[in-house]
Amino acid sequence: MRPYRSDFLVFGSPLILEEDILEVVDTLRSGWIGSGPKVLRFEELFRQFIGTRYAVAVNSCTAALSLALEIVGIQPGDEVITTALTFPATVNVIEHHGAYPVFADVDRATATISPDEIEKRIGPRTKAIIPVHLAGYPCEMDTIMKIARAHGLFVIEDAAHALEAKYRGHRTGTLGDFGAFSFYPTKSLTTGEGGMLVTNQEAWADKARIMRLHGISSDAWARYSEAGFSHYETILPGYKYNMTDLQAALGIHQLDRLEHNHRHRETLWELYNAGLSGIPGLTLPSQHLEEGTVHARHLYTIYVDPEEAGITRDELMVRLKEMRVGTGVHYTAVHLHKYYREKYGYKRGDLPNTEWISDRTLSLPLAAKMTTSDAEYVIEAVRYALSQT
Ligand SMILES: *Cc1c(COP(=O)(O)O)cnc(C)c1O
Repeated sequence: MRPYRSDFLVFGSPLILEEDILEVVDTLRSGWIGSGPKVLRFEELFRQFIGTRYAVAVNSCTAALSLALEIVGIQPGDEVITTALTFPATVNVIEHHGAYPVFADVDRATATISPDEIEKRIGPRTKAIIPVHLAGYPCEMDTIMKIARAHGLFVIEDAAHALEAKYRGHRTGTLGDFGAFSFYPTKSLTTGEGGMLVTNQEAWADKARIMRLHGISSDAWARYSEAGFSHYETILPGYKYNMTDLQAALGIHQLDRLEHNHRHRETLWELYNAGLSGIPGLTLPSQHLEEGTVHARHLYTIYVDPEEAGITRDELMVRLKEMRVGTGVHYTAVHLHKYYREKYGYKRGDLPNTEWISDRTLSLPLAAKMTTSDAEYVIEAVRYALSQT
């Protein structure tokens, strides 16, 4: 092992370029920093990129998921089926609507929700399914949509990891009734905080636009801009979920660089595949992709088998940190988190594949900002850490 690097390789550090900074500065100088023309421009560019009829910018993916649940009419006592191998927000939003999260186990190979397990959990109160394209690997959407349509269920795709992914030629987030995207700092496009709700239904998009800003009839840009003054009234008790022009400005030019950055992460991914193969106790991410299916390459997740590797996932994390490499865990199973464990009595053994992955998964840094020599350093560090057991 060469000497440890001096600078810490931050996990998921965003790549912000001069054009992004200039666009933000332009907004600051424009006199309009709230929700206005830049949000409209960002929405239109995003809509063109993703290919849905409507795109509604909000202040987080969590807000997008929550709006979608509200719009499809989720009520207290309803059930929503999702995965426990996700960020807690996916599940928390179900609770916010008084509904019950019902967890379906994942496929061991892909870490995405298993359509068979979904089907087993459908009951008279089931209203919706939230599949998560974990790490950027598309869920089995054809089967999920077939099940949903047969049972009259809505499908809201959590596409927070899947901005660049395609399932059988179609972009993820466009296959269900709604798609929700995140622009959190570690995501492949960031607005600091932000999110996007996409759909092909005009009435749903209209409702989302009203609900994201207090449920009032016209937004501030329409009220105070030169277009003229108009009174507003409350149509629905809405939320404070709007994106600002400052956030949109940061995102606008990143859209142009998505494909380029994706290709770069693909290169890093291939380096990891080659450099990390054949290590006892280490399982690399599933490489299988159907024709027309594209992995977003958001996370490179390895599974550490403590017996065979002679080290636990958590110990490997600590060692990599000592070697100046930041890593992440995506995710620890949400059904075993305190609130969900205590409220619903979930226990180990309920979701065997989810728990197996939860115990072993480790995400190595995979970001547009990284160089190929950063990736080579990570490979060396992983190999070194595992040789010292
Ligand atoms: C990041 C993330 C979210 C939440 O996104 P925010 O924009 O932070 O609200 C939801 N689901 C998944 C899978 C995520 O990774």
